[in-house]
Amino acid sequence: MARTIAVTSQKGGVAKTTTTANLAAVWGRAHRRVLCVDLDPQFALTRAFGCVPSQFVATTLDAMRDPAIAATAVHSEVAPNVALMPGRRELRNLELSLAVEVKREEFLARALARIQDDYDIILIDCPPNLGLLTVNALFAAREALVPVSMLDSGALQGAGEVQATIETLAQRDVAIRITALVRTMVDPRRLAGRAIEEALASVRAPIAETKIPLRAEFQNATVLGLPLAIADPHSVGAQAYDRLATELGAGVLGAVAA
Ligand code: ADP
Ligand code: MG
Repeated sequence: MARTIAVTSQKGGVAKTTTTANLAAVWGRAHRRVLCVDLDPQFALTRAFGCVPSQFVATTLDAMRDPAIAATAVHSEVAPNVALMPGRRELRNLELSLAVEVKREEFLARALARIQDDYDIILIDCPPNLGLLTVNALFAAREALVPVSMLDSGALQGAGEVQATIETLAQRDVAIRITALVRTMVDPRRLAGRAIEEALASVRAPIAETKIPLRAEFQNATVLGLPLAIADPHSVGAQAYDRLATELGAGVLGAVAA
């Protein structure tokens, strides 16, 4: 069974998509079979691999509507050993139509159940809210990875709300937990980061030791349509994701903050 990780925060611009794409690239290079699932109607993950939804016959939306065709929504080798289930704008409509369905939280889980044995790791890139699409990701995954931008105090609130949602789901026996908060866009010269750093302890979740630095090279890679870990594997940013992948791969993280 694949290790399934939802990369989520209710806050936009905290590096969810960047983290998903780069961890996928690093793990793929390490010969893990990786599936990236784009669950965001803005399909930034699909673009991060240089793809556009219109080039595919089926997307995450189709797989959720009809789990039997999940395999056709998977496109192999968008990077070495990395497959992509692309997003598309119409995922937004699914959010509305799901609202009236029975077991509406389980559409993605059912789709992924069909194909998860083909992968070692499944990473789900979530939209920047805690709506039904994200709840579908939390039902499909066992782990949540929560990027926290150290430039943006709103990111902390985003993390706190993910944690509260996960606690609510735990009461319903959903097997999801936060594996780690990941500090992103870290710039030691900025004062804002220090205040966020102190406040991080208020979110009761493990904090990854690896910090992802603020580097313009991430934006350059996005323009190229390649994760930085592929465009420039020796860059400072890519190496930070190497270390994060190793840290997460070992499954050993710092103690839960008090
Ligand atoms: P989200 O998915 O949470 O909305 P993104 O991954 O799309 O966030 O990142 C938002 C923007 O910040 C993108 O333009 C991305 O290239 C940029 N970015 C991500 N991580 C970093 C970083 N460590 N340093 C500088 N820019 C970054
Ligand atoms: Mg995103």
